[in-house]
Amino acid sequence: MKYGIIGYSGRMGQEIYKVFSEAEHQLVFTFDENGENFIEKPELLIDFSLAEVFPKTVEYAKKFSVPLIIGTTGLTKENLLQLEGLSKDIPVFQSYNFSLGIQLLLKCVDLVKNYTHDWDVEIDETHHRFKKDKPSGTAIMIKEKLDREVEIHSLRLGNVVGEHTISFGSLGEVLKISHTALSRRTFAEGVLTAAKFLIQQKPGYYNFSKLIK
Ligand code: NAD
Repeated sequence: MKYGIIGYSGRMGQEIYKVFSEAEHQLVFTFDENGENFIEKPELLIDFSLAEVFPKTVEYAKKFSVPLIIGTTGLTKENLLQLEGLSKDIPVFQSYNFSLGIQLLLKCVDLVKNYTHDWDVEIDETHHRFKKDKPSGTAIMIKEKLDREVEIHSLRLGNVVGEHTISFGSLGEVLKISHTALSRRTFAEGVLTAAKFLIQQKPGYYNFSKLIK
C-alpha cells in the first residue's frame, strides 16, 4: 500500500517506516517538524507524533479522505470525540498501545476485576526520559478497563521502552499483571496488522477489540 506518516522523523515514525519497508509498502507522504514531503496521495495515513500536532492530523485526514491510524498519546477527550466524528466519513483506528501483549493484559484485567472489588489496586508505568505525556496512554486504558478510581504511578527513566504493572492486593495476597515492551518494533508490527485490517473497512471507529473479533 501507499501510505503516509505524520511524525516520520520520530522514534516510532522511523520504526514504522522500517517495518512497512520490509513488507514492501511505499511511503508517499510525510509530515513532521521538518515540514511536509508529498510525493503522491497516500491510501492510508498513520499518526505517531505529539498531541499538539492533532489539528494538523485531522486536516490531512480530511484532505486525503483515507483510513487513519493514530497511536499518538496525550489526546484530550475533545480530540477523541473529534476522531469519532471523523470516523463517520473515513475508517479510524485509535489505540494508545499497538502491542499484542497489552491487548492480552487488558483481557486479564477484565477478568480479574470481577473477583477483586474489595482489593486495593494500583497501576505503575515506566518509560524513557523523552516521553512527553504522563501518565502513559496505556495506563489510562488500563484504568478505564478497571472501572474504578485507581492511582497511577509514573516513572521516567533512561531509555525504557515501556513497562506497565497492575497490582491487586488483599490482606492475604498480592497479584501482579505485568507487561514489558522490549522494543518499539512490537508497536510498529501492530501498526502493520492494523493497517492491513483498516484498509478493508468501511468508515467507522476501530480498535484492537474490533480487530481481534
Ligand atoms: P518522538 O518525539 O520521537 O517523535 C515525535 C514526532 O512528532 C517527530 O517526528 C516530530 O518531528 C513530530 N513533531 C513534534 N512536534 C511537531 C510539530 N509541532 N509539528 C509537526 N511535527 C511535530 O516521539 P515517539 O517516541 O516517536 O512517539 C510518538 C507518539 O507515539 C507519542 O505520542 C508516544 O507516546 C506515542 N506512542 C504510542 C505507542 C502506541 O502503541 N500507541 C507506542 C509508542 C509511542
